[in-house]
Amino acid sequence: MSERIVVLGAGFAGLELATILSEGLGEEAGVTLIDDGDAFVFGYSKLDVMFGHAEPESVRIPYATFAKPGVRLLRETITAIDPETRTVTTDEGEHEADVLVVALGADYDYAATPGLLEGGNEFYSVAGAERVRDVLPTFTKGRAVVGVCGAPFKCPPAPSEAALLLHDFLAERGVRDDCDISLVMGFETPIPPSPDTSAALLEAFAERGIAFLGGSKVASLDPAASVATLENGSEIPFDLFLGVPKHRAPDVVLASGMAEDGYVPVDSRTLETRFPGVYAVGDVATVGVPKAGVFSEGAARVVAATIVARRTGGAPPAGFDGRGSCYIEFGGGRVGRVDIDFLSGPKPTGTLKEPSEELVAGKRHFGASRRARWFS
Ligand SMILES: Cc1cc2nc3c(=O)[nH]c(=O)nc-3n(C[C@H](O)[C@H](O)[C@H](O)COP(=O)(O)OP(=O)(O)OC[C@H]3O[C@@H](n4cnc5c(N)ncnc54)[C@H](O)[C@@H]3O)c2cc1C
Repeated sequence: MSERIVVLGAGFAGLELATILSEGLGEEAGVTLIDDGDAFVFGYSKLDVMFGHAEPESVRIPYATFAKPGVRLLRETITAIDPETRTVTTDEGEHEADVLVVALGADYDYAATPGLLEGGNEFYSVAGAERVRDVLPTFTKGRAVVGVCGAPFKCPPAPSEAALLLHDFLAERGVRDDCDISLVMGFETPIPPSPDTSAALLEAFAERGIAFLGGSKVASLDPAASVATLENGSEIPFDLFLGVPKHRAPDVVLASGMAEDGYVPVDSRTLETRFPGVYAVGDVATVGVPKAGVFSEGAARVVAATIVARRTGGAPPAGFDGRGSCYIEFGGGRVGRVDIDFLSGPKPTGTLKEPSEELVAGKRHFGASRRARWFS
């Protein structure tokens, strides 16, 4: 019987992993890919939905269009993971694995920020982005706060992008002068590993009159008073609150005993957990890189290449290098990019590619190429 590879989660990491295993091993791949959703959505599509640039239906890529030799994609909810025996329980039964890859992403812990959902809005889920899309047209004057409630959080540039796109949204409706925009986050600068990206974002904020309040996260919201309290004790009144919720690994991962400090520790070069034959990739793991799709798929490529090399007798891959590029919406239809290297030097470094037409096309290609590769 061929090796049984069970991949938990069909997000950025799981889709890339299953695709490479299918390409490398064909019908013999023996991969079971499990996800409880019916469609994949790119993270950045939530910004498109919340500002009315795309319909929710148009950003959903149905799993029904995923078909790869050697991979069966099951729509099941994972209810337990035993990393010792590599046994996974779902609402449909049990799956035993010779190689188990946990790629379940990061969930949101709304309750960790009292008042967030009662007094404000989150825009990190598709449902939250849809709610914001309906609320935004009703906001025509007052104080808007984009606030980060925890760390680490997915896609560190996203709150900055949200503030800049909110500026555009209000300006296009002729109400920008009647509104204040503030951005609150725990980082001292928008993108700490890349001083030039941070400087460009701070300049963009200054040009648009967006207040950047770095150094303290949002601790709670008082819905009755419409005031956000930061961890440093300061209070910020708001009329519209757009929040990035605190993140944590999914409950089923926390209950499995694999997680420490909220996420699954791994060897950052090989993505192996401390359990033999069990890997963790993407947002669910503590790797030393930000939580972003580019890093999730980069880590998945290393695990896939390791499995393919072992099965075919090829050379094992070089370890995960922690490099990735994130496109950043600067507003006004302008897109820049930060190229980051997290693991090869003594400290993370990042450089900015200034916004350009080429990068607008680059971002489009980023999504289209993955869509074609995973779902054609
Ligand atoms: C607003 C926003 C903008 C972003 N912009 C970018 C960007 O421009 N570039 C970029 O690279 N990244 C971006 N990201 C981040 C990116 O979306 C994530 O980092 C990426 O999706 C993580 O990939 P993953 O495979 O680790 O997890 P995910 O893609 O989250 O996949 C995890 C999968 O596991 C499934 N799952 C979870 N629990 C269970 C269970 N119990 N049973 C069954 N299935 C389960 C989920 O349904 C999900 O499909 C953005 C995110 C947000 C929110």
